[in-house]
Amino acid sequence: MTAGRSPVAANYVAGEWVKAGAGERLPVEDPATREVLGSVPLSGQRDVDRAVAAAHAAFPAWRRTPVPERARVLFRLKALLDEHHDDLAASLSREHGKNVAETWGEVQRGIENVEHAAGMPTLMMGDTLEDIARGVDCETVRQPVGVFAVVTPYNFPVMIPLWFWPYAVAAGNTVVLKPSEQDPLTHQRVVELAVRAGLPPGVLNVVHGRREAVEALIDHPDVAGVSFVGSSAVAKSLYARAGAAGKRVQALGGAKNHMIVLPDADPEMVADAVVGSVFGSAGQRCLAGSVVVGVGDVYEPVRDGILDGAASLTIGRGLDDGVDMGPVISGAHRDRVNAFIDEGERYGARLVMDGRRLRVPGYPRGHWVGPTVFEDVTPEMPIGREEVFGPVAGLARAPSLEAALDVLAKSPYGNAASIFTNSGRAAREFRYRAEISMIGVNIGVAAPMAFFPFGGARNSFYGDLKAQGRDAVSFFTDQRVVISRW
Ligand code: NAD
Repeated sequence: MTAGRSPVAANYVAGEWVKAGAGERLPVEDPATREVLGSVPLSGQRDVDRAVAAAHAAFPAWRRTPVPERARVLFRLKALLDEHHDDLAASLSREHGKNVAETWGEVQRGIENVEHAAGMPTLMMGDTLEDIARGVDCETVRQPVGVFAVVTPYNFPVMIPLWFWPYAVAAGNTVVLKPSEQDPLTHQRVVELAVRAGLPPGVLNVVHGRREAVEALIDHPDVAGVSFVGSSAVAKSLYARAGAAGKRVQALGGAKNHMIVLPDADPEMVADAVVGSVFGSAGQRCLAGSVVVGVGDVYEPVRDGILDGAASLTIGRGLDDGVDMGPVISGAHRDRVNAFIDEGERYGARLVMDGRRLRVPGYPRGHWVGPTVFEDVTPEMPIGREEVFGPVAGLARAPSLEAALDVLAKSPYGNAASIFTNSGRAAREFRYRAEISMIGVNIGVAAPMAFFPFGGARNSFYGDLKAQGRDAVSFFTDQRVVISRW
């Protein structure tokens, strides 16, 4: 079966677009209109076995392919992604719901990972030291490891697979990718472009599906390592399961990101940054701001600015002009976000802007949640502690930076946090003590670029080597040491 531009997501195995054996399929919908855009198969054990066998078979020849040749495939892919940037952004907006400025940026972030991974001839160089003893030299070489599984979430379905597979294949490994079943269609077009760029059969394979496919993949004896991004509960159990089987694992989980505002910050700038961070992509980002802690008197002007900014957002279908915020991904997710809002009220947080029951003219069937703002949020409330993954801001007031850091310390998550201040000393104190992996100073969304590591701490990350950057090279290679005397 050829996928071509068809909206039917197909598995891609050994250079062929193939049907999954199980036969069961899920619809893929536009979350604003509920138009069915295509469908995705739910693969089972046999589909996974075929894909891993293809990756395993392709590994020896691909490993021997000179690294500049492997990198050249990525240079060609980068050119094709640039050429198709606008189409990919539109397709992504349709199946995910976020606006085109967001999806264009997502595709750009993905391209930057392809660019960075194309530097693999330099990135995977080893080290040499003469005379570690008399007449004895030592060198390290980085070698690929084998077949990697890559399992990714729905919220950045183009970019997140590109955090991993370009590095894995440039380093000489082969890959089986299991994209999110909720919005798999646009990355399928990226895979088609990779094929056009000359990626040989078997080097990158795709299986669609859900839990069954993921478990078959991570349990497979020929899979050497797993890169995962998704919710913390799944990240944790996958880390334990694959780790127990002796595999290398990097598992990025969920988040609850705090934004601390000190009295010397400019409230207008902060409110703009908070509105972009909390409500951008309808809150469906692992770097989305979630709890805003205002220190002292800055609290009121920042709260007022956030409420004004939130009220001025245009909500609608991401593909339409002038839309700031789109729908959430599904009806089930809308209900989950609404349940968090209900619970926030029950726990005594003060609801000052309520996004439940939002109606968007022209899109009666969309999965809408409007901007929502709570005051008096504490770390003990689910709304102050758990990941909502929707357009919901929790505001809290603290008497000092010290007290704000105490709020942060109670969070079970450690993905990102921001501070807004004019004081270098306060910013340094925050950076030093926050124990959070991605820190913003006067930045609302502290998103590391491709050449820096991406990943969190605490329940936001299981593993040690993060996504992107030098960590990706370490994760996808093994260092071998050669000690020689002649
Ligand atoms: P999810 O955990 O539901 O799904 C992620 C992937 O795991 C999907 O491919 C899915 O099919 C698969 N999966 C789901 N349940 C599974 C199970 N029980 N066993 C095995 N595999 C399973 O996550 P999602 O809803 O697609 O994505 C949103 C989550 O991802 C949020 O928690 C968000 O914070 C997180 N996320 C984290 C980062 C980061 O950098 N830390 C980045 C993006 C998203």
